[in-house]
Amino acid sequence: MERTYVMIKPDGVQRGLIGEIIGRIERRGLKISAMRMNVIDENDAKEHYSEHCEKPFFGSLISYVISAPSVSMIVEGKDAIKSMRTINGATNPSEAMPGTIRGDFALETGRNVVHASDSVESAEREISIHFKDDETNEYSRIDEEWLYE
Ligand code: UDP
Repeated sequence: MERTYVMIKPDGVQRGLIGEIIGRIERRGLKISAMRMNVIDENDAKEHYSEHCEKPFFGSLISYVISAPSVSMIVEGKDAIKSMRTINGATNPSEAMPGTIRGDFALETGRNVVHASDSVESAEREISIHFKDDETNEYSRIDEEWLYE
């Protein structure tokens, strides 16, 4: 099993998409093992997006991500990292397939509603930025025997 860090960004919260997004994650069979709503601390946002610190969009990206509450989650399951990236769709919503979150609910890269880690290393790094160890919940979904062979 893999785990990944997922964020419903401030535009997703402001636009009333929390339930829609969480519903898609749950219906896919993935397990949410931690969840919190908060305004992300500026330093945490800068650390989260440190790989982009030299990019021209870095300043506006940080302002956007800390502009209002977001929802942070740890999502677990088989190939959770790849599955969540597929559920979210392409970074640029104009290239995102219909049926993905970005393909269904977004128009611009700078307001693309969701985040999900892109590798095992990023997932562990991002989880450690946004969650303490004791915020994770260990439990089984009742449908796991029908989700996994
Ligand atoms: N971003 C942006 N302008 C760009 C590229 C990226 O505002 O030209 C933002 C966008 O919110 C994106 C985030 O920076 O989701 C991180 O970019 P990355 O390429 O890592 O995409 P992601 O992993 O979120 O799909």
